[in-house]
Amino acid sequence: MIETTLREGVECPYCHEQLTPRFVSVDHIQPRSRGGADSLENIHFTCLSCNLAKSDLTDEEFKLLMEFLSLYPLMKKSVLRRLKVGGASYYGGKLQK
Ligand SMILES: [Zn+2]
Repeated sequence: MIETTLREGVECPYCHEQLTPRFVSVDHIQPRSRGGADSLENIHFTCLSCNLAKSDLTDEEFKLLMEFLSLYPLMKKSVLRRLKVGGASYYGGKLQK
């Protein structure tokens, strides 16, 4: 299913990059941690990077965040890095304790 879908030219719904087999992931639209079902209706393909940053945000919340951050490219990089490491402080490419 994944290979067929990717051959059809699917893009990540969040960053709009073309999905590739190496960097694709299955994301829950409504996170399971927030009551989302583990069903086909509640999953879609995203790039791995966006899925890591999205964590337990809903599809709608993450789209709004990405839209807001698109106005501030420098802040976008920093916020997405922090989200990918679970909100930990991230400075100069290193996790801060
Ligand atoms: Zn993406």
